[in-house]
Amino acid sequence: MSKRIFLPILLVVLFLLLFFALTNSEVLYSQIEGDAKETLRTSMHTFKDDYSSADIGAEEISSLLGVGVCFLDKEFKVTDVSDERFAPSESDIKKIKISFEGGSSIYVSDSDKKGHSYVNICESTDNMIVKLTVEIFSRTEVYISMIPSLVIYVCIGVLLSLILSLIVTSFVIKHVKELALNAIGNDKHIDAKYVELKPIADVINLKNEHVRNAQKSKDEFISNVTHEMNTPLTSIHGFAELIASGSLPASKTQSAGKTIAAQSERLGAMIKQILNYSAIDDDLLTPYDVDISILTKEVLNNFEPMLKDKNITLLRDIEDGVIVKSRHERITEILDNLVSNAIKYNKQNGKITVTVRNKMLIVDDTGIGISQDELKHIFSRFYTVNKSHGENMGFGLGLPIVKKLCDKSGWKLYVDSTPGEGTTFRIDFSE
Ligand code: ADP
Repeated sequence: MSKRIFLPILLVVLFLLLFFALTNSEVLYSQIEGDAKETLRTSMHTFKDDYSSADIGAEEISSLLGVGVCFLDKEFKVTDVSDERFAPSESDIKKIKISFEGGSSIYVSDSDKKGHSYVNICESTDNMIVKLTVEIFSRTEVYISMIPSLVIYVCIGVLLSLILSLIVTSFVIKHVKELALNAIGNDKHIDAKYVELKPIADVINLKNEHVRNAQKSKDEFISNVTHEMNTPLTSIHGFAELIASGSLPASKTQSAGKTIAAQSERLGAMIKQILNYSAIDDDLLTPYDVDISILTKEVLNNFEPMLKDKNITLLRDIEDGVIVKSRHERITEILDNLVSNAIKYNKQNGKITVTVRNKMLIVDDTGIGISQDELKHIFSRFYTVNKSHGENMGFGLGLPIVKKLCDKSGWKLYVDSTPGEGTTFRIDFSE
């Protein structure tokens, strides 16, 4: 982490150092050039006032003024020069001409082979042109002179960035660690000391809430399961004990055996549903195209005996070729639960309509219906409207299974019911 913080800090520091080094060099060079121009102006005044009319050579004037001196005739030919370095080159003569035309008599010549630059001032007198020159460091020289100090600053910058990144990292880590330590226990709401750490505190609080809810839901589930299992187990245990002790009259042994068989069957069915319910979360099997039109017809055939028992009429409104991305066992589970409920909670001689159309499955019955109050709870685990858990009644896991399967696949599940008239479950498979 400190490496990730170190690199950006280092980049910023290096950029700033480079920027300041370049700016400093430029300022220094401008200062040198400005000073040279000032010297030349003063020297030119002195020359004009004191030496222009005197018959003194360029070399002598140069030693008197401390600047390079060159005299040219009006044709720009050199007539006298204090040092060959100050004799104008071809390009210098062009610059002198341009400077005369532009009104400014000062110009800077290019660097020579040694890397020096020359600042010149030219004035035209009655019979000649005077050129005074000062030698200065070239721009490149000024820039190069900055390198040693720049290297020292870069080393200091690297060191500072390293120390800064370590301080920043340990500071951030310290508070994140503090936050994480405060969050241990899951039941506490934690507050961030700094605004920047609030998103982390929010995530931890949210996660803790999820963990609390999951824990609560797990506890409820275990308590419900044990409660639901207790009823058939007590019955089985009671009858088994009676038979074992020999105190049950022979005439009642058969009916006791039947009860034990029925209750064990109920227990088995309950275990199967609990396993089904839990398996949905872990089911990562790949979905494929399921023709729910065909599958619905097949599943409905299995309900013939149950329908006959209650003399219920089953109407099928099934459009051909309705395809849904799922798995056969999931759709079968949904159909089994909805249709068996439609039969279980129907009246004698009632009616059920199963529709498969426009990517929708509708199971509509003319049964006992569900009140608005109860409707809110029917998808909760182990919720049953009739708490008596009579022989044909379920354990309240059918609809939670349907809901979980729909949620997992992103399908919408709707229910409408009128007590005494009937109930309609509708699943919209379109995503
Ligand atoms: P169960 O195994 O008890 O049927 P479900 O989860 O399938 O559990 O249903 C929960 C409760 O919703 C049932 O106990 C029943 O009271 C009510 N219910 C479900 N389907 C219907 C229906 N078609 N008509 C009336 N009540 C229904």
